[in-house]
Amino acid sequence: MENCIFCKILNKEIPSKFIYEDENCFAINDINPKAKKHILVIPKAHVESLAQVEDMELVKKMFEAIKKINKQEGIVDFKTLINTGKSAGQEVMHLHIHILAD
Ligand code: 5GP
Ligand code: ZN
Repeated sequence: MENCIFCKILNKEIPSKFIYEDENCFAINDINPKAKKHILVIPKAHVESLAQVEDMELVKKMFEAIKKINKQEGIVDFKTLINTGKSAGQEVMHLHIHILAD
């Protein structure tokens, strides 16, 4: 999707270190961390938000990725956050799950 920051990161048009990648999603550190560890888990397919997800299997796969990322990063206690819609605080209109851990 043109003009989408996360699609540009996926396509390497914007450099960003992938801390995790599988066939469905990838993860990067948030550029403006709001916790000691602040990771974004992002599906490779451009889906605007949770409200646009047609097959919830995608969300399951993202949470499966979260389990692997947390194991890799030594995260045990954590919060997850999905902002859906601009008025709920969604700034990047490409679905993502925040992992926040102190
Ligand atoms: P939202 O408010 O949409 O749920 O969260 C978007 C998140 O993406 C914010 O926490 C913001 O700091 C992060 N972010 C925005 N642009 C970039 C970027 O170019 N690189 C990275 N790593 N994070 C970004
Ligand atoms: Zn996108």
